Amino acid sequence: MSAIVRFAPSPTGTLHVGGARTALFNYLFAKQTGGQIFLRIEDTDRERSKPEFEQNILESLDWLGFKFDNSQPIRQSERTAIYREALEKLISNDTAYISKEEISDDKKRGEVIRLRNSGQKITFTDLIRGEISFDTTELGDFVIAKSLDEPLYHFAVVVDDWEMKVSHIIRGEDHISNTPRQILIQEALRASRPVYAHIPLILAPDRSKLSKRSGSAVSVTEYREQGFLPGALLNYLALLGWNPGTDQEIFSLDELIKQFSLTKIQKGGAIFNLEKLKWLNREHLKLAGDSIWENIFTVDWPSDLRARVIPIIRERVATLAEGESLIASGEYDYFRTAPTINRTLLKTPETLAKTIILLDALAETDFTAPQIKTVLWPYAEEAGRGAVLWPLRMALTGKDRSPDPFTVASILGKKETLSRLRQITNNVE
Ligand code: GLU
Repeated sequence: MSAIVRFAPSPTGTLHVGGARTALFNYLFAKQTGGQIFLRIEDTDRERSKPEFEQNILESLDWLGFKFDNSQPIRQSERTAIYREALEKLISNDTAYISKEEISDDKKRGEVIRLRNSGQKITFTDLIRGEISFDTTELGDFVIAKSLDEPLYHFAVVVDDWEMKVSHIIRGEDHISNTPRQILIQEALRASRPVYAHIPLILAPDRSKLSKRSGSAVSVTEYREQGFLPGALLNYLALLGWNPGTDQEIFSLDELIKQFSLTKIQKGGAIFNLEKLKWLNREHLKLAGDSIWENIFTVDWPSDLRARVIPIIRERVATLAEGESLIASGEYDYFRTAPTINRTLLKTPETLAKTIILLDALAETDFTAPQIKTVLWPYAEEAGRGAVLWPLRMALTGKDRSPDPFTVASILGKKETLSRLRQITNNVE
């Protein structure tokens, strides 16, 4: 069966990672059933909805790589006439009525539209949580619109899902308590009931709800700015609440489409683990190849040097942004320009003369880290590792911490390595 699903964010804030995961689960389910996914902007709350939030949501969804089956999002604020017609229908068959009452604190009298609620027990089957029942008596005749032109949120959702022929509603479990109201509205409209799947919340490490207050980054934009790859973030979000039942942890979007299963989503809250996300990002960076790192360099890095430095950076950082700040900090500037060396820091510069002879014997094409190590190691064992390797590292980098000197020498190349070493020995003599 081809599913019809929707992702229905409210533009009252930037796209939260929880929202991104809801979009992902809907997307995966639509694609694996050969169905459709629509994007609907739920902006009935006119005060809290802001165009800049809608913009952020659209950009974030785009960055994550989602393609929706409607090229333009459906916007509830543009559908007043549709809701009005549905309200009129309910009023004319007396399943809803206009009620004159005090509507605000200042005792102003006005009108609202209420649904007649017989107070029946509502039971629905949730794909994740099983059977859920609610006694709706205490909801009374609840308000569904402030006026014919101002439907409330629940009413608009039900009309839209019906009109869009939504077959499955996959959303956060914070909406479970809204479901009985929405089912009562469906029944009044004689709309069919979609299948529900309420997914567990994302929790902060202390099991509180993941929020700015819990100190975590919550918006997709923040992860984007921190240099995470969209594919890594999606991979991570998929594993928050779902697992494939195998050891596989690294998934492309296509693999997720094949393997994801709504019914395997766990009921309990899923704890957000930044370290795991970083690990996945490293893995996705490895899969992405070297060209993705090109932009972390400033323009004055020659491209052949970039290619040789990238593997070192890739080992050290979890995100492109961390790589970018490493480069910006000047940490690796010694690859581009010979450092000025404080001679006293060389400690045992006298070993450099022999080091030069050994390295000079290596052909330029053999000037790789393992080969360099092979020719220097016996001498280092004989004269003392520190005595040989320390001045070598210092002469090449000017730093007491760096990648191992064999790697540094191989990146600099034979010519530059020997020139830096000779510069020192010539001056020492
Ligand atoms: N607009 C709601 C939200 O942002 C989603 C409602 C739904 O999926 O039914 O949480």
